[in-house]
Amino acid sequence: MPNALIIGAGVAGTSAASVLTKAGWQVRLLDKARAPGGRCATRRIAADPGSAWFDYGAQYFTADDAAFRPVVDADLAAGHLNCWQPAIQVAEPVGDGWRRASSPDRRRRLVAPTGLNHWIRHRLAQTGADIRCVARVVDVSAQADGWRVAIEHDPAPLHANALIITTPAPQAATLLAGLGGHIGQIDALAHADQALRACQSLVVEAPALPDCHGLFVKGGVLAWIADNTHKAGDTAAARRLWTLHATPEFSDAHVEDTPETVQQILMDEFSAITGIVLAQITPVRGHRWRYARPGDGAPDARTLCHVEPEIRLALAGDWLAGGRVEGAWLSGRAAAQALLGQ
Ligand code: FAD
Ligand code: NAD
Repeated sequence: MPNALIIGAGVAGTSAASVLTKAGWQVRLLDKARAPGGRCATRRIAADPGSAWFDYGAQYFTADDAAFRPVVDADLAAGHLNCWQPAIQVAEPVGDGWRRASSPDRRRRLVAPTGLNHWIRHRLAQTGADIRCVARVVDVSAQADGWRVAIEHDPAPLHANALIITTPAPQAATLLAGLGGHIGQIDALAHADQALRACQSLVVEAPALPDCHGLFVKGGVLAWIADNTHKAGDTAAARRLWTLHATPEFSDAHVEDTPETVQQILMDEFSAITGIVLAQITPVRGHRWRYARPGDGAPDARTLCHVEPEIRLALAGDWLAGGRVEGAWLSGRAAAQALLGQ
């Protein structure tokens, strides 16, 4: 039975695993994090499994592609996904203050009943693939019969016929740099250091806002503000968990700032936009995403994946497919199909 190692258990790794296991391959995913999901990241505010949760990476996703829609429709029907219908506003700076205006739309936005991370875990469980977390891959080398993969703090390397790397581009470039020849100079990785931009994020607890569950911010430090309590289906709570995401411009420029500095700037702007006084805003969790969304060095979104069929190596990930959950899903799928010769 052919086998594959997939580095990265995010959306791209999950969709690649799904295609390969359906074709009868034995698949093992390796991820450096403590749990799978990658940028589909969910936390609870307390250890209690019933406590409130929030997504602090991806907030929701859309599904336009004909290949992705059936996956989503099946999970909607089975209750693993919900449609989120937030009251959306757009905020713009005006003079010394901000103007907020409602922005009605009919976009179908998908969320998961207990957070996007749990949707990925559900999808992974469906594949039957083996998943090993806290497994940071530090070296890969091509052998006559496949791939040898070394994991940090583990003296026993793993072997497989095929290798799919779904990490962000800079991490993929580091892993492949030592291989030399044309593999060390893959076009898609030519500008890997500029392939992804950062996102500074902060979750705060603050009061509910009337008629506002999601805010697209134009012209500020923040880009997106989302009421994750409403997303979780609680429409009555007086206090909410709000996820704040900064723009790529601010996040890149402040990537090395202290968490405290970033937190204050994000909270100040949230307060200014919403009119909620700082005394009513409690920080819950800050997170710096160093590689969040595609930047200038990313390949064209139609690239989808990069495959070296003769050595059974594939690169996948959102940065090859225009970013976003849907892009990552299509990228992983394309990489696996290419390895299968489909
Ligand atoms: P990842 O999720 O990054 O998975 C890669 C995995 O590789 C990670 O789990 C990582 O731990 C692992 N890894 C890296 N290096 C190694 C190594 N050496 N060894 C082992 N494992 C390794 N998309 C949307 O559609 N809607 C949104 O609302 C949205 N909002 C977002 C908000 C934020 C703040 C961020 C950061 C992203 C957002 N996105 C959104 C984008 C979306 O999250 C990504 O496009 C998607 O999750 C990427 O999936 P992936 O599998 O390509 O990469
Ligand atoms: P989408 O259609 O909801 O959003 C796409 C873009 O359209 C938005 O960014 C926004 O500028 C605009 N938009 C959508 N609805 C709007 C409305 N009612 N009023 C005003 N503007 C509106 O969904 P998508 O294309 O699937 O994108 C998913 C979201 O993920 C986007 O908001 C994107 O910015 C975000 N994202 C964030 C990061 C990050 O690092 N923070 C990374 C990847 C994606």
